Amino acid sequence: MTARLLDGTDLARRVREEVARDVARLPEPPGLATVLIGDDPASAVYVRSKRKRCVEAGIRDLHRHLPAHVTQGEAAAVVDELAADPAVSGILLQLPLPPHLDPAALINRIPAEKDVDGLTEASAGRLALGRPGLRPCTPQGVLALLDDAGVALQGAHAVVVGRSDLVGRPVAQLLLQRDATVTVCHSRTRDLEAVCRTADVLVVAAGVPRLIGPDAVAPGATVIDVGIHRTGSGLCGDVDADRVGHVAGALTPVPGGVGPMTIAMLLRNTVAAAAAAPLAAVGGAR
Ligand code: NAP
Repeated sequence: MTARLLDGTDLARRVREEVARDVARLPEPPGLATVLIGDDPASAVYVRSKRKRCVEAGIRDLHRHLPAHVTQGEAAAVVDELAADPAVSGILLQLPLPPHLDPAALINRIPAEKDVDGLTEASAGRLALGRPGLRPCTPQGVLALLDDAGVALQGAHAVVVGRSDLVGRPVAQLLLQRDATVTVCHSRTRDLEAVCRTADVLVVAAGVPRLIGPDAVAPGATVIDVGIHRTGSGLCGDVDADRVGHVAGALTPVPGGVGPMTIAMLLRNTVAAAAAAPLAAVGGAR
């Protein structure tokens, strides 16, 4: 492997330390309300680590656990109560929800000022229009990794593989705001390899193990692998790292790349929400 590895574990630790210092400067500690509905084991693990990191940074843990059989109306009432509670700086509804619940209807009850996951229509609209607001965490983590590595974005050709609301679309918007020339690929893109090969910066969030091989990467390109998959031989990403590592100039490892950045950015969003902050500082909005 000749590519420089972009260490998300180390950057996430530095961001968390910075967040803890910011929290200490606030008159009141911020409060993060994670909302977990039901007992999905993977969601329980994610929420537990979010809560742990939030407490470590001095943020108040205002977690709510609702039973799987909660009705849409009962869940909506909890979100409304948290929305009205001044002790709650940020609200995060852990997905996926049990199938009888409508996630979009619940997410959109979260006020944009408390939307620390950046997933409401209001936050997505602010991002699309380039207005200040809270940005989705994983896409912010991608930008933070690029910035920390000193990757120039202005005028660069950035190719994003994936157009999900959670990752692909917001990453593309953030890159556009930073004056990259952005191409978004998806499952119907013709000749994906050829398009990816034109990228100075390639962000892959397709959810397909090892989709991107060395023929899809220009020599020296920066490759950010958002994908994460558990396979028989361990964890892997959407990029065939063993082979792409000989072509790319820089590459995020899986694990230890984008993954750790997501929670770090959630903490940063929570502080920004509490400070009712200069939101323009969050996610590079202009
Ligand atoms: P998603 O909602 O399934 O979206 C996948 C996107 O990739 C879709 O836009 C899809 O295109 C596109 N796609 C699928 N197969 C493709 C192909 N063969 N060629 C080109 N495009 C293709 O997934 P997601 O939520 O964005 O997540 C993507 C990956 O990131 C997953 O592995 C997930 O586990 C990981 N992830 C990691 C983190 C983290 O913290 N590290 C956070 C979130 C997600 P269409 O729109 O045409 O269907």
